[in-house]
Amino acid sequence: MGRVDGRTALVTGASRGIGRAIALELAREGARVAVNFASNEAKAQEVADEITALGGTCLLVQADIGKPQEARAMVEKVAKEFTHLDVLVNNAGITRDAMLPQMTDQQWVDVIQTNLGGCFFCTSAAIPFMTAQSYGRIVNISSLNGQIPAIGQANYSASKGGIIAFTRTAAAELVHSGITVNTVAPGYTETDMFESVPAALQTKIKGHIPMGRFAHPEEIAKAVIFLVADGDYITGQQISVNGGAFM
Ligand code: NAP
Repeated sequence: MGRVDGRTALVTGASRGIGRAIALELAREGARVAVNFASNEAKAQEVADEITALGGTCLLVQADIGKPQEARAMVEKVAKEFTHLDVLVNNAGITRDAMLPQMTDQQWVDVIQTNLGGCFFCTSAAIPFMTAQSYGRIVNISSLNGQIPAIGQANYSASKGGIIAFTRTAAAELVHSGITVNTVAPGYTETDMFESVPAALQTKIKGHIPMGRFAHPEEIAKAVIFLVADGDYITGQQISVNGGAFM
């Protein structure tokens, strides 16, 4: 028996990295899972195949979460096809790094619109379904770099700090609706996103992590599953999964 048997879930940005690990873990624990991706259909299909191989049910949903109409249409499609929507994991995110004097307006807008905007668009679309069933578990993926200064990432750290603030307010607004809203804030995690960081910088970063290594995506997924499966009395909180990088 799985810990989330009978539940339905939508994970944004689930074709790769942390989202993929979350989708697989939810499926392993018995949820039917909608796997969202932006453009990488082949990778998303691999995740769908893995879920099917586990004996689970998967729905592939392409949408750019930074586009309000696409994000909302996706949430409605998933809720209708699954007949209800219990779990929303706002995971999809991007980086467009530059030091402040060089950061373009487009880099700023793209990151805020996708990371923070996408979180709002999907959450606001999910609320009517979750309110109607008096049950919902929303987990927003923030970042260590929303908790501490992140040189060259003013856009990203603002989006991730914004997610933490957004989570608290959403949790307070929804506390009487049976819906919990929490944040998981990963530290540096071995995914495509982190691979784009130059090797020399990776070594420097590792030196600042008390546990001396980067996270595996599955370690982030475990915190998400905990909140979804066992977090009935937890809302408005953030769980940092970062090897002790921010205490
Ligand atoms: P990743 O490996 O780069 O994967 C990003 C995922 O998001 C992909 O599935 C991608 O889809 C999807 N995506 C990107 N833009 C999208 C959009 N506009 N609409 C829908 N989906 C979109 O990233 P990751 O490292 O797993 O990161 C996942 C989350 O964790 C992000 O929010 C990130 O900020 C956060 N995080 C990561 C780290 C880290 O070190 N890796 C640390 C802290 C926080 P396609 O495959 O279709 O492109």
